Amino acid sequence: MVSGKDFKMKISTIIPYVLNEDLETEFFFSQWEYSNRKICIVKIICDNGIVGWGEAYGPAPVVKESINYIKQNIIGMNPLESDVIWSTLFRRVHDYGRSGVFVSAISAIDIALWDIKGKYHKLPVSTLLGGSYREKIRPYATGLYFSDSKTLTDDLCNEALEYVNEGFKSIKMKVGLNLKDDISNVKAVRNAIGPDIELMIDSNHAYSYDEALKLSKKLEDQDIKWFEEPLSPEFYDQYSDFKSKSLIPVAAGECEYLRYGFQKLLDKNCVDFLQMDICSCGGLTEAKRISALSSTKGVKVIPHTWGSGIAFYTAINFISNLEPIPGRLYKEDAYIEYDRTENKIRENIIKDNIIMKDGYISVNDKPGLGVDVDETYLNEIKI
Ligand code: MG
Repeated sequence: MVSGKDFKMKISTIIPYVLNEDLETEFFFSQWEYSNRKICIVKIICDNGIVGWGEAYGPAPVVKESINYIKQNIIGMNPLESDVIWSTLFRRVHDYGRSGVFVSAISAIDIALWDIKGKYHKLPVSTLLGGSYREKIRPYATGLYFSDSKTLTDDLCNEALEYVNEGFKSIKMKVGLNLKDDISNVKAVRNAIGPDIELMIDSNHAYSYDEALKLSKKLEDQDIKWFEEPLSPEFYDQYSDFKSKSLIPVAAGECEYLRYGFQKLLDKNCVDFLQMDICSCGGLTEAKRISALSSTKGVKVIPHTWGSGIAFYTAINFISNLEPIPGRLYKEDAYIEYDRTENKIRENIIKDNIIMKDGYISVNDKPGLGVDVDETYLNEIKI
């Protein structure tokens, strides 16, 4: 019998990096302001020269140290045995890292292992996950953040129209400033983009149950596709009750970790859309398990996607493999979140630009994640 151990391939080196960018224009959302962006990525080198890349979602300098802390447990292991490696890492942090940065650290390593597996087998990660159900994915624009501008409402409308002109058919805007401004801003943006463009709102858990329900009621005639993180992620019972009362569908999951966390969201019927971040929920290995759980409840998966082109193409490979539920001849579009805020790292760290054509992004067919990391640029911006 041939086992994975017969393939003479070993993990030699694991190097996490923090990429740093100071933004030209500060912006903020319901929780804090952004003037700087830091992203943790990881490079794994094998003894046969194959290199894999992964990315974490979370506080980059802390995740980097978490990767450095756990990496010695898997040096010398066979990167093709990614389930075994995942379990080895999880057991090492189980007692104190069942959520948060240690899970993000595991996620980054796991993604890099899938990149290595794809390069070894000369197949895209989507094929290794079980195959691609689609050739193109529909990006939705994430933007419309807050600023100190005195003409914020007009600025938001103009920004939304730019996305429409670029070909986006779906746009997500921030709420969570206060109920009064949120209501008027959402109505103004809906009026500006017209009825044919999808609009989503995201409060980043800014509101109490009563406030969130009030906002939902006030906006229920605005044809909102989903209300993202209306409530704090700990309040599963409130989510469940909110979902039963809100006519606007509910989305959440970017603050949740591992299949055990997502099972709570699903068992309590908290969401209509499940939004795990592959770079923090436990990587591609765990995201696949979470999507299997989600399929048992008929809940749609649209991952939260942030960070660099490595995270973006991780999501492209994963989303292309998401089973269409319900099945039918003319399939619904699969969605990918496409952050449009200032982010030079996103496109510059990979050599091939992300291309949107006629409102869609093609599923790549290159081996691994399909990204070619620009290490000259990496060395310029790493700290
Ligand atoms: Mg969000």
